[in-house]
Formats: sequence, structure tokens, C-alpha cells
Amino acid sequence: MLLLLACLSPDQPVAVAPEPRVALRPAPVVLVTLDTTRADRLGCYGHEAARTPNLDALAARGARFSSAFATVPLTIPSHSSLHTGLLPPRHGVRDNGDHRLSEEATTLAERFADAGYATHAVVAAFVTQSSWGFGQGFQRYDEDLGVASDRLSWRVERPADEVIDQALLALGRADFLWVHLFDAHAPYAPPAKFENMDPYDGELAFVDQQLGRLLDHLPEDALIVVVGDHGEAFGEGGEASHGLLLEDGSIRVPLILAGPGIEPQVIDRPVSLVDVAPTLLRLRGLAPMASDGLDLLVPSQRIGVYSETRYGMHHFGWTPLERLSTPTGALVRGARVESTGEPGEGALGELDRLASLPPAFAAERATLDLGTLEQLQALGYVSEAESLHSGVDPRDGVGITERLEALRRRPLPEQVEGFRVLLEEQPGLRDTRMRLGLSLLQLGRMDEGLAELTTAYRGSPGSTTAVAIGEVWLQRGDAREALQWFEEALTHDPLSATAVSGQAQAYALAGDLDQARVLLDEALLDRPDHADLILASAVLALALGEGEQRWLEPLEEVARRRPYQGRVFHVLGSLQVRAGDLEAGETSLKTELRHQPGNTAARLDLVSLYREQGRLVDVVKTLRPLVALYPEDERWKAMTRSAYEQMGRPDLADEI
Ligand SMILES: [Zn+2]
Repeated sequence: MLLLLACLSPDQPVAVAPEPRVALRPAPVVLVTLDTTRADRLGCYGHEAARTPNLDALAARGARFSSAFATVPLTIPSHSSLHTGLLPPRHGVRDNGDHRLSEEATTLAERFADAGYATHAVVAAFVTQSSWGFGQGFQRYDEDLGVASDRLSWRVERPADEVIDQALLALGRADFLWVHLFDAHAPYAPPAKFENMDPYDGELAFVDQQLGRLLDHLPEDALIVVVGDHGEAFGEGGEASHGLLLEDGSIRVPLILAGPGIEPQVIDRPVSLVDVAPTLLRLRGLAPMASDGLDLLVPSQRIGVYSETRYGMHHFGWTPLERLSTPTGALVRGARVESTGEPGEGALGELDRLASLPPAFAAERATLDLGTLEQLQALGYVSEAESLHSGVDPRDGVGITERLEALRRRPLPEQVEGFRVLLEEQPGLRDTRMRLGLSLLQLGRMDEGLAELTTAYRGSPGSTTAVAIGEVWLQRGDAREALQWFEEALTHDPLSATAVSGQAQAYALAGDLDQARVLLDEALLDRPDHADLILASAVLALALGEGEQRWLEPLEEVARRRPYQGRVFHVLGSLQVRAGDLEAGETSLKTELRHQPGNTAARLDLVSLYREQGRLVDVVKTLRPLVALYPEDERWKAMTRSAYEQMGRPDLADEI
């Protein structure tokens, strides 16, 4: 199926004509972020096997920065720096998944919007969704990834051709356009045309080809910046992908700036992602923002630029890493300091200063629901913000990530065994314990999954783990246990809508519908668009048997924006059936089962729907996976037998 799709995807996508620009608007400012792109894999950075003619041409007519560094080798923290001009200690987003960019932050898009620019974003991945705080300042935020039709799960990325199609459509009405391209992130699977290349180079060639369509349509006076959010280690320091270490490969990114008045040049001094925002504002004559960055085009006396990662600390309990890249070398500090080249006299002092910058505002915690957590796990990121560490330097523990990476490509049951072996060797690996628990849940082994998640929580308490455990208890119908865990989550993150909606569901489950409604209505006053609160309100409406029409539209919106949100298609399907739209209800319930084959309640709802319509063949088809999944459970066998008997096939009933 995948092969077939690859053949069908056109090499030359259908041309999309941009809308004509309205006169008297500022020339567009276009910010393109290339996910997971190493500088040294582009032609203009010296890679001979590269096929990146469009980026090379852009670099030839603009300023190319040979030593540009990501602040963090992870998408969410790195984009947070890019959008705010702030270093991680200042914006507080230190890892993927533990925090979102605070509403208190001032973003580049907000500054452009304030100046009258029409702002528009088109993003390609789950990790750049507006729920991470990146929507601030954007009047339009296109984050529709679509649901994968060819897999038993949601889709985690939108390919470059689709992103660029949308960007071209946006071009006519956007004055500040952010385009995010995720293709170079693992797995590397370029379209057929680029299959004869190294797969990573092939992905970059595809990105370049698509980006070329956008660049071709930009007016001559457009201001363009293309920048990588981080690189990919490909074995540097022993790391396979990115996040854990601060070797060159994972933080040295391409940075190209082109537009009116920018002379063709190559700038070799170290620069940082935080420099992009202040530079764009200055080039457009807007007042500077309070940032940690410097103007990219003005020579500076800066000692060096700062990068950090806390991935090892959050995931494995190791030390954080901090790096200063200077014109003559670099130093990286973990449990020890190591340097390359001659970083210079003041480097360590400057590293200290930057690493201990005070926060610019209070960081905003992100408590994830189970669906989001599983989504992050699919990308290889699971973490719980945690500042304790054992003193082990990530550079000494890196071998573990290779083994985890290899496991991620194995079937779930093998992953479970692999995680167990790792944990026997090193019981303190938080991340592995979480992944083990989540994998067991996905396999329907609920008792074991719960036990592992509970152990993970005891070792590293946090709101995301507590919510995950609460949600599993909800699924199991134990309101009292569930309530306790949601309350536990609120002790870590008192404002968590995810935890509040869990609490409400637990009250509803216990029969206290009034209390549930009070909790939700109060929370919705503050956050009327919050996906978790809408979902919980819809569930409550179903339980009360009233008001379900009110939630249909908001829930359809949640399903469109966050298809991976746990149970959203189940609840939507139930609402649609209740509202009399049986066809839509059936489609939604089937979508839920594609996402979550183990959602027994959704499966039984679909069975009831088929039974009411007298569709006994479909009843049996829907029940049989339950019989296979839970061979010990007599209920499913009895239901299947009775359906066969109603069909007049007692012979088949006897085989169950
Ligand atoms: Zn990224």
C-alpha cells in the first residue's frame, strides 16, 4: 500500500497559482524552517551529493551563515527561541512536551501583526501545532495534518508538496508567512523521484524542489529567511538522531537570509536562532523586541553563542548539557567540560552567564493527555519535566539511545521485551519505563501497563504521568482511582485543563453529574476552545442525554485539529448517532477504531449501531477482533455466537 502511494504521488505536483497580491501591502516576509536539517548536507554548505539547487541559488544571492547554531537540538524549544529571540533559560521551553511557549512571550508574529502585517503560518507536524504556543500573533494557522488513510494511526507529518500548496495559496494575503517543513525528520522516505539518492539527501532534495515552487512565486522585494531548527547527529558522539548531545551535527544548521539591500556574502562568525527575530524587525524598520539576539548583519564582539539540552536529564536522569560555540572552538559542559579547538579565555564565564539567565516570564507547563503522549511517543519523545539527575554525563550513556532507536522499529511485543531488558540493567531509565507502560497499554495489557506507569510516576512524579494513569483508570471504570490521580496531577500543574476534564469525567462516572458540570463550566469560562474541556463536556452531554447538539460542531473542530486526541472520534460518533446522523456516526466510530483498535467501548457502540440496523455480518466482523484480542473473555464469545445464530449460522457459532 505504501509503495502504491509512493508511485502515485506526482513528481511535479499540480501547480497552484497564488492569489494576486493586494496593492499597498508591505512586501512579504517569509520565514521557512527546515526541520532536522544539517547545514553540511546542503549544496551551498559544500555537500557534493546534495541536490538543493533552489537553496543554493538563494544562498548565492543572499547572506549565508556558515556557523549558525540551534539553541536546543529539539523542535519545540528551538522554534520557541526562533519566534521570541529568547534563549531557553529565558523562555522556559527546555524540552519537547513538558512546556508550551507562554502567552506572556512576545513573538515575532505578534510584532508583525501589531505593525499591520497579515500573518499566516503553515506547519507540517504535530510538534509545531498551535497547542505548543506557536499560534501567538498568527491570524491564520494552518496545522491540518490530515488523518492517514493507509495506516492504523494518525499522521504525524504533512509532506512538503502539500505544505507548499497551502503556502502558495496563502501568499496572496499574507505579509508575514511562516512555513515549516518536516520531511527531513526520521523516517527518511523520499518520494520515488529521489529514491536513488541517500534517503536523507533525498528528503532534502524533495524539500528543495518544493521550496523552489514557493521561491519562484515570491515578489522580488520579499524578505526571506530559511533556517534549520536543529540537525541530525548520524552517529556523531555515538548519537543516531538528535536531542541528547550537542555535537556539531545536531545543532549546526543552515541559515540563509535574502532580500532587498542584502549583499551576497558568507558570514563565518557564530550566530544563533535567537538572532533571526531582531534582524527581521530591524530590516522592516520595526522597533526592536526584548531579545537575547543580535542583528545578523552587524559584526559583534560576542564571545560565543549558547546551546543546551536537557533531554538526557528528562528522559534518563542524566546531567544537562550546555555549549558555547565561539569563533575559534567550542566547549560543552555536562558532568565535565570538554572543548574542541581553542574556545578562548572568556568562554567558560560566558557559558555560565548565559546558562543562568533568569526567566523572562513564568514558564507554562504542558500537561499532556494520553493521546498526545502516545503521539509524542510515536516520534520518540516522552518526557516529564524533572530537575533531579544522577550525575551521569549523557556523553557516557549515549549507547542506550541507539538501542532504544533500534527497538522503535520493532513490533510492539518485541519493544516490550526490549524495554524490560534495558530496565533490568538500568532501573532508573524514566523514559524507558514510560514507554514500556504505554506500549503495554497499546497492546491491551492494561494491568501491566498501569503498574509500569505507576512505577514511572513514583520515580519521577509529574502531571502528565498522573493524567495518563487517571485516564487508564477511567477507561477501566474505576472513578475513585481515576479521581485520585487527576487530583495528583493538579498538585503539579494546578491550571491543567486536561486534569480538570479528567476530574469531571471521573465525577460523571461516579454518578455525580452536577459536580462534573460545575467543574467543566467553570473551566470553559476561561478556556472556551480547549479541546479537552470540549471533549469532556460532550461526554457529559451524552451521559445526561441532553444538549448534545451544542457540542457537535465544537467537537468536529477538535477532531479536525487534533485527530490524535484520545477518544475524540468515539465521542463524536456517539453524538452523531444520537443526533440521528447514522452514516457520519459510523464513519467516526470506524476512525476511532483505526486509531485505537483497543477502544472496546467504541467497538461496542459500533456493534450496537449495526445491530439496530440489522447488519449482522458487520456485527460479527466488528466483534471478532475482540474475541481474538481477549480469548479468555466469555462475553465477546457469547455476543459473537448469538449474532451467528441470528444470522441462521449455528454451525459458525459452534466454532467460537
Ligand atoms: Zn525539529
